[in-house]
Amino acid sequence: MGKAQLSLSFLCQRSQSTNGACMIDFAPVGTPQQAHIRLNIIPRDQHCISRRNISDNALKVMSRLRNSGYQAYLVGGAVRDLLLGEYPKDFDIATDATPEAVTELFRNSRIIGRRFRIVHVRFGREIIEVTTFRGHHENGSSGSHQPETGGNHSRQSASGLLLRDNVYGTLEEDAVRRDLTVNALYYDAGKFEVFDHVHGLEDLRNRSVCIIGDPDQRFTEDPVRMLRVVRFAAKLDFSIDPQTAAAIPRCAHLLAEIPAARLFDEFLKLFLAGYAAATLENLLAFDLLRYLFPDASNGIKKDEKALALVQAAMSNTDQRIAQDKPVTPAFILAALLWPVVDAHFSRLQERGEPPIPAMHAAGQMAIQDTIHHMSIPRRFSQPMREIWEFQLRLQRRTGRKAAELVEHRRFRAAYDFLLLREQAGEDTGGLGQWWTDLQALPPEQRLDTVAASRDKRKRSGRTKTRRPNPAV
Ligand code: ATP
Ligand code: MG
Repeated sequence: MGKAQLSLSFLCQRSQSTNGACMIDFAPVGTPQQAHIRLNIIPRDQHCISRRNISDNALKVMSRLRNSGYQAYLVGGAVRDLLLGEYPKDFDIATDATPEAVTELFRNSRIIGRRFRIVHVRFGREIIEVTTFRGHHENGSSGSHQPETGGNHSRQSASGLLLRDNVYGTLEEDAVRRDLTVNALYYDAGKFEVFDHVHGLEDLRNRSVCIIGDPDQRFTEDPVRMLRVVRFAAKLDFSIDPQTAAAIPRCAHLLAEIPAARLFDEFLKLFLAGYAAATLENLLAFDLLRYLFPDASNGIKKDEKALALVQAAMSNTDQRIAQDKPVTPAFILAALLWPVVDAHFSRLQERGEPPIPAMHAAGQMAIQDTIHHMSIPRRFSQPMREIWEFQLRLQRRTGRKAAELVEHRRFRAAYDFLLLREQAGEDTGGLGQWWTDLQALPPEQRLDTVAASRDKRKRSGRTKTRRPNPAV
C-alpha cells in the first residue's frame, strides 16, 4: 500500500453483488496507482455469526456506544474466530468514540497504553478492549522518514517504526491500518452485518494469512507484525501469502529495534496460547527466533537434541493447555535457554568450577544475555534458575535430602524438566523412572528406598555421584 493511499479520502459507490451482499467501492481520489478498497457488506443470512456466541458484556458495550450516538463494531480475532466457527478468546470493539468519551460512558473503564491508547472496560474477570478507529498519519507511513513526527498523537522513528499511533480516523481508515486481512473484519451487532474492506473473507476461505497493504512498509512501521503473521499462521493452520512471506527476510532485522518488554509480551502470545509447537516451527522456518533468543536460536540450529528438547517443551505446553492444566512461561523459557546454559556450564566446568556454582553462574549468564533482547520478569527468571539447578540435585539418589526433595515446591517442575530431557533423547541412566517410582511410594517408605538405592550402589562400587550432563 502506497503512502498516498493511506492519507486520502474515499469516494463511495454502492452496488449489489450477485449473492446479495452489498459491495461499496472506495476509490481513492486522484490516485490511480493505488490499490482498490472494496467494502463488502455481508447481511445476517449470509454469515454464521450469532449474537448467542458473543459475550454479553461485549454486546452491552457496543449497544451503549451505539445508543450514545457512536459507531461500534466487534472486530479482530473475535469476528475471525466466529466466522471460523470457533469461540473467541476475547472480544475487541472498534468505535469512533475517543478513549476519553468511552471512559465517560463506562465507570468500570480506564485508558491504557501510550504507543497505542486503548480503553479496557472491566466486567469482573472479563476485559472488553475498546479501540478508537485509527486514521492515517499526516506524513503518511511509507517512509517519508521524518523522525519523531506528529507531536503527541503520532511518532515515527528515523527508520519508519511507529513509536506512537494515536491518530484517529474513520472505519475505512481503521480497516486498512490493521495487520492482517482476516483480522480486519467488523461485525455490526445492531444490524447483524459483517463489513469486509480488504478481502478478509476471501483470505479466510482460502486459509491465507496476508498482511494488509505493502508488506515491507507495514513491517517497517511495526516489525512485531512479522511475529503476528507466523503466530496466526500457526494458530489458524493457514498458509502465508507469498508476498507477505517474501517480505519477512527483508524486514526481519527490524525486530532488533523492538523494546525488550514488548517482545516479552509477544513471547507470551507466541508460546502460551496453545499452539506453541507450530509457532516454533514457523519462527524457525523464517529464522525469527533469533530476535527473541539469539544464543538459544544458534544452539537449536546446531544441535538436534537441543531442538528436540525445545519441541518437546512446546508440545507438552500445548497439551497441558488443551487439558486446561496450568502452564508457566518459566518452564518454556527454561527449555529454550537450556542449550545456552549447557554451553556455559561445560565451559565453566572445564575451567575447574565445581558443578553447583558452575550451574548457578551458567543460569545467570544465560538470563543476562537474553534480557538485552527480551525482558524476563524476575518472577519467571528465578524459577527458571531453580529448575536448572535442581537438575543437579536430582542426580542424587541417596540420603535423607534426596527423599525430602520430592516435597520441595520446585520439585514438580524440575522433575517434569528431567522427563523432558529424556524425551528429547538424553540418557540420564533411568533417573526419570527412579523419581517416578519414588513419588508413587507413601512418604514413610521413601527413606528406605533411598537407603536401598545407596546400598545397591555401594555394592556395585558406584558411590560417587555421576557428573551431570545437561547436554541434550
Ligand atoms: P487473538 O486475540 O485471538 O490472539 P486478535 O486478532 O484479536 O487475536 P489481538 O492481539 O487481540 O489479536 O489484536 C486485536 C486486533 O487489533 C487484531 O485483530 C488486529 O486487527 C489489530 N492489531 C493488533 N496488533 C496489531 C498491529 N501490531 N498492527 C496492526 N493491527 C494490529
Ligand atoms: Mg483479541
